[in-house]
Amino acid sequence: MVVTRFAPSPTGYLHIGGLRTALFSYLWAKKNGGKFLLRIEDTDKARNSEEAAQAILDAFEWLGLKSDGEIIYQSKRDDIYAKYIKQLLDDGKAYKCYMSKEELTELRETQMANKQRTMYDGRYRDFEGTPPQGVEPVIRIKAPMSGEIIVRDGVKGDVKFQAEDILDDFVIARADGSPTYNLVVAIDDYLMGVNEVIRGDDHLSNTPKQIIIYEALGFDMPSFYHVPMIHNSGGKKLSKRDGATDVMAYKEMGYTPAALLNFLVRLGWSHGDQEIFSMDEMKTLFNPQDINKSASIYNTEKLDWLNSHYIKNSSNDELTNLLTDFGILLTSHDKKEILLDALKERAKTLKELATLVLEVTSAPTSYDEKAVKKAFKGDAFEVLNAFGAKVSASDAPKLPLDYHALMESVVSEMEIGFGKIGQPLRLALLGKLSGPGLDVVMSVIGKEETMLRIEKAILANS
Ligand code: GLU
Repeated sequence: MVVTRFAPSPTGYLHIGGLRTALFSYLWAKKNGGKFLLRIEDTDKARNSEEAAQAILDAFEWLGLKSDGEIIYQSKRDDIYAKYIKQLLDDGKAYKCYMSKEELTELRETQMANKQRTMYDGRYRDFEGTPPQGVEPVIRIKAPMSGEIIVRDGVKGDVKFQAEDILDDFVIARADGSPTYNLVVAIDDYLMGVNEVIRGDDHLSNTPKQIIIYEALGFDMPSFYHVPMIHNSGGKKLSKRDGATDVMAYKEMGYTPAALLNFLVRLGWSHGDQEIFSMDEMKTLFNPQDINKSASIYNTEKLDWLNSHYIKNSSNDELTNLLTDFGILLTSHDKKEILLDALKERAKTLKELATLVLEVTSAPTSYDEKAVKKAFKGDAFEVLNAFGAKVSASDAPKLPLDYHALMESVVSEMEIGFGKIGQPLRLALLGKLSGPGLDVVMSVIGKEETMLRIEKAILANS
């Protein structure tokens, strides 16, 4: 069974790059009928925050990504890590290093002065004497001193690391006993049964260290896929300014979960020239072997395009539901179908859609000055009064076509063009000269409100 995981460090909010690897991991598990797990890597007590961990869970909830098991918190697993540290010590695969801070600094300085790579010199690797007093030891792994470590990567192919170039006996437990990053990642991936690791290629340099841990503990190795970064249009690593912000900011900006997930799956992965993927399609088609070898480019226009596609193609019930986050409550509005059908073609984001809805459902509080000059002139008020009287006398108009018929009868009785009623009526109803069809607007706000808005407009502008 394929088991994947997402393992964020809650030192900040979940950003778009992290979410993309989470999505890839999720899809690959789902495609294989496997499991997708979530692990919160909260061992760095100084930099972690509970809010950040909660924000990650909120983002997952919003996007409908669910962990298929209990969420693992590394901060609660010290006992487990201590057991493996002991095992490594007992097996002679790790050792206590009593080098003091001063000695370490001295070693670094000498190496730098000699233009050597700064690394631990292995002085306690085979130490058998009496340890110095007053130094709490760190624990170091016995890393291979020669040869190469090959990361067999599903995206990049074989990546070779020369042991002597890059590895030293890195610390697996600090002087206070706390385990270090590469140790706990390897232990947890093993214990959680993770056999396919998909993560950002900023982690590639950690992988040989984790491989050393896997080997020292006799664990089966997972497959690795290191996903190239997301770049901005200038080819630089994505920054906050380009959209590498908190995933929840996308919610606030009015992006739908479906659009955001569709946008992310195409950042670094493709299936022919297909752009639109439903969640079901993503689950069937995604394969990490098709991940691009080069960085992908973040493109806001594409995200907007996808978002308007999903808004246009959402059912009105779905939109009603999504709009509640923007303070728009249409659930019991009897004309919500007519309203949303008319507006959903016009909005790039849910936020825009919410504004468009409000522009119809709330009476104007002011009238655009230029529009007033243009539309409330000549016999405009006469036409409006005639139309108001028609509406008042009519027997419960309901649908857009009922209102359309009333407008037509005024036009023919007064022998005027449609523009003569259209412009002043639009300004009276909406306070400006743009917006959806007037018949739709009147059908949505109803007979009384239509009359009221006409009266108010005449009063306010006479
Ligand atoms: N905790 C790491 C991070 O947030 C990810 C570790 C991993 O995926 O192996 O960058």
